[in-house]
Amino acid sequence: MSIKNRIKQIKDSLPDGVILVAVSKTKPIEAIQGAYDGGQRIFGENRAQELAEKHSALPKDIAWHMVGHLQTNKVKYIAPFVDLIHSVDSLKLLKEINKQGKKFNRVIRCLLQFHIATESTKFGLNLDESRELLSSDDFSTLDNVCISGVMGMATNTEDRELVRREFNLLKMNFESLRQSYFMGRANFTHISMGMSGDFDIAIEEGSTMIRIGTTIFGRR
Ligand SMILES: *Cc1c(COP(=O)(O)O)cnc(C)c1O
Repeated sequence: MSIKNRIKQIKDSLPDGVILVAVSKTKPIEAIQGAYDGGQRIFGENRAQELAEKHSALPKDIAWHMVGHLQTNKVKYIAPFVDLIHSVDSLKLLKEINKQGKKFNRVIRCLLQFHIATESTKFGLNLDESRELLSSDDFSTLDNVCISGVMGMATNTEDRELVRREFNLLKMNFESLRQSYFMGRANFTHISMGMSGDFDIAIEEGSTMIRIGTTIFGRR
């Protein structure tokens, strides 16, 4: 099946309101152009420099999402144009994004990444840490970032009930933060969860944004 058809098949299966991010990391420009020609406009990458290079080579109406771990010294490569950063896991990183946003006179949309998996290698905050961040005096001064929701990655396992519990935890964290910090704020809306192997479960658990690489572009 072509990239175009795979995108169409996934999109046709999505409930209203669930956004597809096509994760194109390591894939060549031609593959992304193929997906673009099929109507896809949101692409995700996990390395800042690769993202910036692809941004310059491809049509300018693409919304680029940073889905991977982001180091503070790399924010500058993507700050002029990035549409959404999924992987904010510290106040330090958020402050740098804000600083770069100010420089380019933009408000950069960000998601707080949560550590929901059992693996210790995955990045992310827990609920207490996210509350500490959102309650801090520093956070209240950041005018060039907009916290638009949460993101998480489930454990890479065959145990679908474990994956379901992890997605459910992310959804509960989202609701908890919404109640405490974002009532009446229309921007705090996204729960980015679900990849090729688990997006069906993520959608059942309330995902609003799935990040799909392998199912669209093939194995990396
Ligand atoms: C690579 C990646 C994806 C896509 O994974 P697939 O299993 O290929 O669909 C989604 N989210 C993040 C953060 C990734 O790094």
